[in-house]
Amino acid sequence: MTQQQPVSKSTKIVATLGPATSSEEVLQQLILEGVNVARINFSHGSHEVHGTTIDTVRRIDGELGTYTAVLADLQGPKLRVGDIEGGEMMLEAGETLTVKVGTGMGKDGVVYTDYEAFAADVQPGERVLMDDGKLALTVTETNGKDEVRCDIVHGGPLRPRKGLNLPETKVSLPCITPKDAEDLEFALSKDVDWVGLSFVRHASDIVELKEKIAAAGKHAKVIAKIEKPEAIEDIDAIIDATDAVMVARGDLGVEMPMQEVPLLQKEIVTKCLDKSRPVIVATQMLESMIESATPTRAEVNDVANAVIDGADAVMLSGETSVGKYPLNAVRAMRQVIENIEAHGKVEYSERPPLHPDDERFISDSMCYNACRLARRVNAAAIVTMTFSGYTAIQVSSQRPKAKIYMFTANRRVLSQMSLVWGVFAMPYSKMVSTDHTIADIKYILYKGGKVKEGDFVIHLASMPIADAGMTNMVKLSRV
Ligand code: PGA
Ligand code: MN
Repeated sequence: MTQQQPVSKSTKIVATLGPATSSEEVLQQLILEGVNVARINFSHGSHEVHGTTIDTVRRIDGELGTYTAVLADLQGPKLRVGDIEGGEMMLEAGETLTVKVGTGMGKDGVVYTDYEAFAADVQPGERVLMDDGKLALTVTETNGKDEVRCDIVHGGPLRPRKGLNLPETKVSLPCITPKDAEDLEFALSKDVDWVGLSFVRHASDIVELKEKIAAAGKHAKVIAKIEKPEAIEDIDAIIDATDAVMVARGDLGVEMPMQEVPLLQKEIVTKCLDKSRPVIVATQMLESMIESATPTRAEVNDVANAVIDGADAVMLSGETSVGKYPLNAVRAMRQVIENIEAHGKVEYSERPPLHPDDERFISDSMCYNACRLARRVNAAAIVTMTFSGYTAIQVSSQRPKAKIYMFTANRRVLSQMSLVWGVFAMPYSKMVSTDHTIADIKYILYKGGKVKEGDFVIHLASMPIADAGMTNMVKLSRV
């Protein structure tokens, strides 16, 4: 059996890679420390650097026998201010600021944005937020073409390239911008496992991205980043359309009143569990660790609560991409996860299968009953044989106490499933007979120390195995 990551927590860790974590040495340590998903943030950096990083992750995986998922995170219609003379401009409350469309140098009460339709999209009275909402302005006047006057409500220093949020404006930009299309093409050429789309507004945004991936002949799965009020309004349809979800609390807490984010997080996670969609809780989880070797107690609580809510994965951003203590951050996150899990605090989420007319009714029923049975007999492991990963996700979404081992002949799915709660993926391509496979896999798990003599193991498979059809069989046996 391939060597496994020594860490066996169920809740997964997504780490954003960047200058602080691009060397092979640091990356390898991160993976050994518990990182399951490497996030490449296309808001920063060049294709050349990202390509090298992805190659490094794959090479380390080859050496360690791990299956790290690579997530390409597309910037989407993220708005920014342009350059600023001297690297900073002081905005004083009560004064006015003119925002011009173009690529000029900001100075003397004028800043630029390259968002062409800015003046056409905003209306007087709407709010303009800058730098994660630290600066707040109100539109007083727009010429509808290239110039907008704003009153400064909350002032402070404004630095170049800071984000611009328009929570009350109907932004006319497409969800997949020309930059995203280029980044997507590059990411797909590197065979990334997941593609994240920022500022999703409607389910149709996800459909469009999926069409682009399919047209390129690729199999990357899609993550909808929830960070716009429009997405909250269309949340059920978005969850139906997407493969996974990210609660992108950074922008969500700017675009919506931030006090609403904690309940939104819980509601979105619950909806995702109900619909078997993996869900990531993201942003500022251990923010202070960008500068400090230890987290604040409030941050520890935040990670713990996301795990208890039932998130598939928790995410690090600046903590690992530019922070001073990337390894400490991953270790802190892992220790919090391990402690919550050791106390059995992730709730079992039983969910009966869909309607008998649904084409997945039989396999969903098998997954549901495998989890029930696992609970009943206190099984040590649920084993799924799958080509698509579907049954592994179905079983995982019920959050069984038994460990989930996914065996597959599909190399792509091995790393893709690294994002999914509790799923440990292993390659397997022998197809002699169901009886032989079940015995063989039990032996592999036993040899690998995953189960011991006397343990109950539940197998999910399809019979006859050579047909590689949908799961239609549950078997209980003892090691
Ligand atoms: P970002 O997304 O890091 O790409 O902005 C996450 C968030 O907004 O929380
Ligand atoms: Mn964001």
